Amino acid sequence: MEFPKENFSEWYQEVLENAEIVDNRYPVKGMLVWRPFGFQLRKLVTDWLRELMVETGHREVLFPTVIPETFLKKEADHIRGFGEEVYWVTHGGTSPLDVKLALRPTSETAIYPMFSLWIRSHADLPLKVFQIVSVFRYETKHTRPLIRVREVSTFKEAHCAFASKEDAEKEMEIIDKAYRAFWDEMGIPYLVIQRPAWDKFAGAEKTIAFDTLMPSGKTLQIATSHMLDRKFAEVFDVKFEKPDGTRDHVWLTSHGISERAIAALIGVHGDDRGLVLPPRFAPTQIVIVPIVFKGKEEVVLEKAREIKEMLEKRWRVVLDDSDRNPGEKFYFWELRGVPIRVEIGPRDIQNGVVTLVRRDTGEKMQVSEGELEGALDSLAEEIHESIAKKARNWFKGRIKDVESIEEIKNLDNEPVIIRAPLCDHWEECGKKVQDQITKELRGIDLDHKPREGSNCVVCGKPAKFLGVWSNAY
Ligand SMILES: [Zn+2]
Repeated sequence: MEFPKENFSEWYQEVLENAEIVDNRYPVKGMLVWRPFGFQLRKLVTDWLRELMVETGHREVLFPTVIPETFLKKEADHIRGFGEEVYWVTHGGTSPLDVKLALRPTSETAIYPMFSLWIRSHADLPLKVFQIVSVFRYETKHTRPLIRVREVSTFKEAHCAFASKEDAEKEMEIIDKAYRAFWDEMGIPYLVIQRPAWDKFAGAEKTIAFDTLMPSGKTLQIATSHMLDRKFAEVFDVKFEKPDGTRDHVWLTSHGISERAIAALIGVHGDDRGLVLPPRFAPTQIVIVPIVFKGKEEVVLEKAREIKEMLEKRWRVVLDDSDRNPGEKFYFWELRGVPIRVEIGPRDIQNGVVTLVRRDTGEKMQVSEGELEGALDSLAEEIHESIAKKARNWFKGRIKDVESIEEIKNLDNEPVIIRAPLCDHWEECGKKVQDQITKELRGIDLDHKPREGSNCVVCGKPAKFLGVWSNAY
């Protein structure tokens, strides 16, 4: 059975279901169940995220799921932004609650009131915490597993307080670097984009986002980081005493990554046979398939067990000694993205070799048993590189650089990202482009500058930035 990836929307649903990642049949719209295989995949991704957070000085916390209405409504922009999406707990049993409780749509208004209790002096700063939790948003748009859901069941949100704007800006840089490392390790290509004013996080001064591209031609926002300045600190009275004895509000930043990371990993790398996973994130990295013939079963199985024992010290290995025929086994493990298959048959044993098959290219190779461990090391490395490179090249090919409105319009129905020069007033001019096409202004590309001497596609003034337009999830 094949899963043609051309029709991405269908492919995505089929793979999520058949590879047993999540089950969409739970009877609440937009809320789904992680199955054991999917949960393992999720854990490998969140372990890596946790590692990066701890490495960059963030400490893990766990806040309650509910936020009192009085807190959630304190910051005006914030509640304007999230108001329509909040789930409310209004009763305890049959008694109405004195103060309604919101299921957190994000945790700024839960965490900063506690910061105001924890932070006393400059010695308490910086304070950098994160949690990986569920957040709830009553999405009215079409829901899609792991992409647009009503319970985001994997939301890493970090919240940090600083004594100065410089320190907060430094944190934005630290996060930028950490996030790049996070996506690079998963082989997911991205653009780093500053969002326009109307697309910022509700309550933020500045929002930086990472966008990748799904095979459908729609971009997917896969990470954000927000400069909150002092607005939330003023609202929640988060103050510290400076060395000179005066008191001042802290500077705040927040940043997040959700289970969209897993949607990207699945969507970007997969092929017509299912998942393709970089070895680091594959729940099963190696599957051993014994190729048995009548009368030789025991010899082959014994060798397969011996090799499994040798490999499982370093790898997540499965020996598939089930009754299914080899073809069925190949299909089963290919669908689940197992990067390397080891085949062992009677003739291999005679010759002292095993056969290795790569999931990403289908390439087969024979190695002697003595060289197996070394060969697996370099093969895993090679698979990682090759998957990432393939994704990178595909992504680059889908970014179209143009220098006129006409060219932008001509590309509007293509499944691509459009990039074009804009002047200093990029929000205003970029919006004027957006008004003439179906793609939306995602913001300006922070890694690339317009060509020397090029002009804004709208007003003709000298270009300062590269605007980015795409259809987006
Ligand atoms: Zn302009």
